[in-house]
Order: sequence, then structure tokens, then C-alpha cells
Amino acid sequence: MQYKRILLKLSGEALMGDRQYGIDPKRLKEYAQEIKQVLATGVEIAIVIGGGNIFRGVAGAANGMDRVQGDHMGMLATCINGLALQSALEDEDVHTRLQTALEIKEVAEPYIKRKAIRHLEKGRVVIFGAGTGNPYFTTDTAAVLRAIEIDADAILKGTRVNGIYNVDPEKDKNAIKFDTITFKDVIKKGLKVMDMTAFTLSEENKLPIIVFDMNTKGNLLKLISGEQIGTVVDN
Ligand code: UDP
Repeated sequence: MQYKRILLKLSGEALMGDRQYGIDPKRLKEYAQEIKQVLATGVEIAIVIGGGNIFRGVAGAANGMDRVQGDHMGMLATCINGLALQSALEDEDVHTRLQTALEIKEVAEPYIKRKAIRHLEKGRVVIFGAGTGNPYFTTDTAAVLRAIEIDADAILKGTRVNGIYNVDPEKDKNAIKFDTITFKDVIKKGLKVMDMTAFTLSEENKLPIIVFDMNTKGNLLKLISGEQIGTVVDN
């Protein structure tokens, strides 16, 4: 097995399925089943979940809301998604813990690095909610931060597209996909993988990012098994 411990980043939008907002139970179940398969191979799995399907702080700010207020709403939205994912995983008999960066102690554990690692070692899937706990950040940054803290081997960013292309593949059918690319080339070519805060944090800490299509069944397992899926960003 190529990886011992991974951090899977799922965007809030990924949970929408074909809906315009909210959570699609079918999609959630599919994800839970994919995660269960990978866990069965012995890989330790931590997950950071986004909240964009429910609320984005910048969208609130654009409508005149105080940005920090909006970001707090966004972080709480990630906790809602975290609870939904936890429930879907437990329906598949996967043991889980939800740890949040903002304390909601009747609902989830607070984020404690050592505890998170212990859960992982025991084969539990640990879901990190509330992003970094700070406004003006994204859940991509939270994903990189947590991955470094728990010493994950890589961050797997599940998206709708199967990797990084030279141009947007949803707009240009001649787009060419990279199998691997360096952090420096991503910046030089002006490609978008994550926001810059998340991206540079990953580069500085030599944490590889793998961008792959999470919506194709079996992809996560293939990736873990060493198949060339998606794009690897590395030093
Ligand atoms: N957010 C935040 N701090 C964080 C992570 C998230 O304030 O550390 C807020 C922010 O408002 C963001 C929202 O939560 O817009 C949802 O997170 P994100 O946009 O990263 O979710 P995704 O795009 O992955 O669904």
C-alpha cells in the first residue's frame, strides 16, 4: 500500500449530487461506501469536509453581511455536513469521530491532535469540522493544516474533474491533463488547485496533493492501490 494515512478533502458541493444546494442522501451513501472499502485495506482515513453547499462566508459578505459573521455560518455549515457524513458512515458500520475546531461539545469532540491520531490508529475515520476555526480561511487550508498536524502521507482532494488540466476541461475539449506536476509549475502556469494559502502551506511542508474525481465509483480505492488516477502535485 502506497499510503498509511491519508487526509481526504471533500467539498460541500460534492455532497449536493445533482441538487442546487444541501445534501443528496444518495451521494452521501456512495461516499460512505467508497470510504469503507478503502478503510478495509488498512489505510487510516481523516476527512475534512467543506460547507459550500450550505453557506459561503464570501457570499454573505457580498450581500452586505459582516464577513466574520458569514464565516462563522460557513464553519457551522461544515459541522452539519460532518454530522451527515458521520451518520452515513455509521450506517455502513464504520466507526467514526467528528472533531470540530469550534467547540460544540454536546455534538462533537473538540479538535485534539493526539486524540485524533489515537482514533486513526484504532481504525476510526476522523472527520474534522469547522475548518480551521478561524474566519477568512477555507476548508482547503484546514485540510492541509490537519494533514500536516496528523502527519498524513498525502491530501486527496476529491472533485468533479479527474485531475489538473492546462485549461478548464469543462470549457475546452482539447484540454490536456497532467499526471504529475510540481508546486512551482502550478504557480508558473497560473493553474488553480486550491487557494494560495492552502497551496503554499502544502508546498512548504512537502505534502503532496492529489486531485481526483471522487464521483467515479471505485476511484478512491484505485488511487489508494497505486493506480495512476488524477494528478499528483509534489515538490
Ligand atoms: N470557513 C472559515 N474558516 C475555515 C473554513 C471555512 O471561515 O477555516 C467558512 C468560510 O465562510 C467558507 C465556508 O466556511 O466559505 C465553507 O467552507 P469552504 O468554502 O472551504 O467549503 P467548500 O468550498 O469546500 O465546500
